[in-house]
Amino acid sequence: MKMPVLFIGHGSPINIVEDNSYTRSLAELGNTLPKPEAIVVVSAHWQTRQTYITAAKMPPTIYDFYGFSEELYQIGYPCPGSPEIASLVQGITKGQVYGDSQRGIDHAAWAVLKHMYPNADIPTLEMSLDLRKSPQDHYEMGKKLAPLRQEGVLIVGSGNIVHNLARSDFSRLYGNETYPWAAENDKLVAEALMSRDHERLIHYENLPYAAMAVPTNEHYLPMLYAIALQEETDHLKFTCTDMQNASISMRSFIIGA
Ligand code: ZN
Repeated sequence: MKMPVLFIGHGSPINIVEDNSYTRSLAELGNTLPKPEAIVVVSAHWQTRQTYITAAKMPPTIYDFYGFSEELYQIGYPCPGSPEIASLVQGITKGQVYGDSQRGIDHAAWAVLKHMYPNADIPTLEMSLDLRKSPQDHYEMGKKLAPLRQEGVLIVGSGNIVHNLARSDFSRLYGNETYPWAAENDKLVAEALMSRDHERLIHYENLPYAAMAVPTNEHYLPMLYAIALQEETDHLKFTCTDMQNASISMRSFIIGA
């Protein structure tokens, strides 16, 4: 059976220890999806020259966030990796993805998976973003991952449709007024997702508020990997539509039959 594909908005690491509508939407996914053989997360937080995939047997937890409460640094995600799936990815991309046997799992993956699969018992890999690629190139790379779905691998893009940290209100996750440009860009992207207008999503820079909503594109790009995998018979359903910190879209979706 073909696995669905996810795009998950990940916001402040504080969500790791929160119980809110966003984290509950993740737990719900973990409870309802067929159990994957492995998980490959395309991470907004791993930017490289060339594209890499983690290939360690036991990838360490990376605490790639600073200045948060001590309790967050006590939590880990001791999932196994899978050198076999890493090799498979290298194979299906015809050597365009390189294995990295040292690197661990950053919070773009584990802050999400902690709520979906708290037992950390599913082999988990992370894929990097090649900084030199255009959005179109990232979309094409996403398409190459399609055979993984047949192998029971859950592919997850982890980033944010709207992500402007400089304008974020860090005083609280919820209850702050969302910036109009953030809400509008989020809505336009949602409409393009619903109408399968992938061209519009690849050329997101043409959206009227893109300069504010996507000031840098590392959080946006993982979404292109998810939509690249949408096939004719796949539907798209939003699993979270929250905004957090006034300027971060937590909009998440599932693609599947
Ligand atoms: Zn992030």
